[in-house]
Amino acid sequence: MHNNPAMDRSFNQTEDSDRILIVENSEFYANLVKSRIACAFFGAIDIAYSFDEVKEYARKYGDRYFLSLLNMSLKGASSGEAVSFIRAHKIPAIVFTSSSQPDVVKQIKSLGVIDYVFKENRASIDVMMRLVRRLNRNRQIKALVVDDSEIIRIQMRHLLAKQMFQVVEAEDGVEAFEKIEKDPQIKLVVTDFEMPKMNGFKLIQRIRDIKDTQEIAIVGMSSSNEESLAVDFIRFGADDFVLKPIRPESFMSRISMCLDKMDLLNQLSASATTDYLTGLSNRRHFFNVAKPLYENAKRSQITLSVAMIDIDFFKKVNDSYGHDAGDEVLKKISSALAKRVRESDLLARFGGEEFCVLAINVHEKSREELFETLLKTISSVEFNFGGEEVRVTASIGVCFCLDQSLEGMIKRSDAALYTAKENGRNQVVFCDDN
Ligand code: GH3
Ligand code: MG
Ligand code: MG
Ligand code: MG
Repeated sequence: MHNNPAMDRSFNQTEDSDRILIVENSEFYANLVKSRIACAFFGAIDIAYSFDEVKEYARKYGDRYFLSLLNMSLKGASSGEAVSFIRAHKIPAIVFTSSSQPDVVKQIKSLGVIDYVFKENRASIDVMMRLVRRLNRNRQIKALVVDDSEIIRIQMRHLLAKQMFQVVEAEDGVEAFEKIEKDPQIKLVVTDFEMPKMNGFKLIQRIRDIKDTQEIAIVGMSSSNEESLAVDFIRFGADDFVLKPIRPESFMSRISMCLDKMDLLNQLSASATTDYLTGLSNRRHFFNVAKPLYENAKRSQITLSVAMIDIDFFKKVNDSYGHDAGDEVLKKISSALAKRVRESDLLARFGGEEFCVLAINVHEKSREELFETLLKTISSVEFNFGGEEVRVTASIGVCFCLDQSLEGMIKRSDAALYTAKENGRNQVVFCDDN
């Protein structure tokens, strides 16, 4: 049996390995772990309470486990026996143990597990949850190791693969840059400084010309102890710097911090453009995208339609079934509308129960049909609140004359919407002088 998790088959099967196996005697603890892990992992989570169940699950799902979390001691098995069994099946493992005795730790390390966690208190479950989240993220990331030394590349590959990264290599800056240009999956680059053809600084400069810190994390490394080298790495656009020889634990925590930063930046920009409740674009993002679209359409004589959509008597939904029911209506209607509009159209929640659609290049003949379809889409969504079947309708105001400004078009749509409400709701009104 090999003991190197980096060589496990399952490391390369990210799509198919969608399960986690928890192995633990205590039902209480197992379920506690399961509920915390469920926040970080959306696949199925199985629990085995005995060695027999471990064997049963391994037989049933084998390759589909991306990870297992095991207690060292288990009913029907000697200490570490279940861990060995799982490792023999090439399932990556994290061990939790109540004993911090050196001989137990030594035994755990000899089993080829990714990591181990002391099972002391609730905090240890958080540690485990963060590990799972990190590994689940890592396995979706391609890491590129750039170094002219094969020994270093092998060492780095081993370290990164143990943390479930998919690893690719390059011998110099030129080869590295070619790979990055071709492969958008590469989200992490660890690069040496001195290399033939193109050095680390030049490589980082070229990467940063095409990808920012939200798209790719870069860590520089060198065996030179010169202070200025670290500073220059950062100056050229690296996120961090490590000294060779690499100390595995600190290296991996630096890598994790860089990727955490990248995740946070991405979350931040997503939350600035998306509506928190429905996941649609928010008003601000709508205008950022719509303005250039409008200018371009006007120049190129492309038709644009702007539609304001407002749910009818929405206040009644809140009053009769509660605010949560109202939220559910907003979410379901949003996703129904999102499925109906075309990829090239813009759909945003402007606020409350009001939405705006900007549709590009809709032929005059199909305009009416398009917006009638949206109206029907809304009224066909079914809700069940306290056993009662509920549907809602909406009113829509549309403008498609380009001789206005974008804001002018929205104003006219609003006026048409008002008319639709006046005329009895659940209808589309096109503004007059289109
Ligand atoms: P009309 O047919 O004239 O449009 O009537 P209406 O009741 O839909 O319109 P009104 O503007 O009077 O009410 C909108 C309500 O939407 C009032 C507000 O409390 C509610 N609302 C706004 N934002 C949210 C939200 O995020 N969630 C929920 N549940 N309700 C919201
Ligand atoms: Mg070198
Ligand atoms: Mg309304
Ligand atoms: Mg309203």
